Amino acid sequence: MNLKELNSNWINEFPQPMMIAGPCSAESESQMLETARRIRESGAPVPVFRAGIWKPRTKPNGFEGVGVIGLNWLKKVKEEYGFKTATEVANAHHVFAALEADVDVLWIGARSTVNPFTVQEIAMALRGVDKPVFVKNPVNPDLALWIGALERLLGQGITKLGAIHRGFSTYQKTKYRNNPNWQIALDFKSQFPNIPMLIDPSHICGNRTGLADITQEGLNVGYQGAIIESHCSPDEAWSDASQQITPEVLADLISNLKIRTTEMAGFEDEMGRHRTLISDIDFQLIELLSQRMKVSEKIGKLKKENDIAIFQPERWKVITEYARQKAGETGMSQEFMEKLFKAIHEESIEVQNNIMIDR
Ligand code: PEP
Ligand code: MN
Repeated sequence: MNLKELNSNWINEFPQPMMIAGPCSAESESQMLETARRIRESGAPVPVFRAGIWKPRTKPNGFEGVGVIGLNWLKKVKEEYGFKTATEVANAHHVFAALEADVDVLWIGARSTVNPFTVQEIAMALRGVDKPVFVKNPVNPDLALWIGALERLLGQGITKLGAIHRGFSTYQKTKYRNNPNWQIALDFKSQFPNIPMLIDPSHICGNRTGLADITQEGLNVGYQGAIIESHCSPDEAWSDASQQITPEVLADLISNLKIRTTEMAGFEDEMGRHRTLISDIDFQLIELLSQRMKVSEKIGKLKKENDIAIFQPERWKVITEYARQKAGETGMSQEFMEKLFKAIHEESIEVQNNIMIDR
């Protein structure tokens, strides 16, 4: 069997959209039970409770997870509040411990998906397991690695597979902690429409403000659910404090989502995806323009220090010539390109003028 032949019926065991929520990390029994209780009491339709037991940290000496003791707390969450449970596994030892503790849903984290040795080790430890396993996109924007990880799992007989879109790391700081890069996730989705996909707005946003919009966007493009970090006391969380929300805020977020109906499929579905791609590209255009202005500003400072005129006609000629040539190569009109670059250039001059005025 290959990935395209997999069927996604397993997801029907869960209410749709499939919502997974809970703290980034398990910290203490009381934190876990209070978070679980409040999610239940909020009435949010969340069938699966998540918590990281082992935490991959960028730098040493951070909180690296409570370890196996946290698995007992997940068990209690299941017994007392009737949740299914989910955690991240990053090596064979994690897999055996999580299976032993009867965790219901497992996921491979973004830092593990990048490493074929790690994924292979996890896949082999999971051999033949009949539980849902989600694969988060790798931290770097590489579609093949993401698909490869799912293939390794399928190769070991794991058939309840899903994908999680958690965004991609970039060097450039933007409003996102991890850039959504919708193009990659939608390419994945169009190649494997049969594999359930969840959105992880928490790790895309890295803050609380953008969560609802990103979750909605995930549903608009046809994802089957979301995994959202929720903590009983977010500001005090031991990891990812700035992006976690209380159970009550979570319930509110979920109740405000517009859930797709099947009649919306087809035209609206395709429109939704195109719109998402356009917004994503516009966002990147704006980010690039802002970076360009920052470089311009640096040039402005150098000109000021060296008493050079802001407007450099030869330089402007080179830029317009380049833009005209590129217009030809990409099939856009020269007129459009000239107008666009004229506007960018004018703003650039303005930025540099402001530096001169600061004198
Ligand atoms: C997490 O879900 O807490 C986590 C570590 O996610 P990611 O692998 O996406 O960084
Ligand atoms: Mn986290």
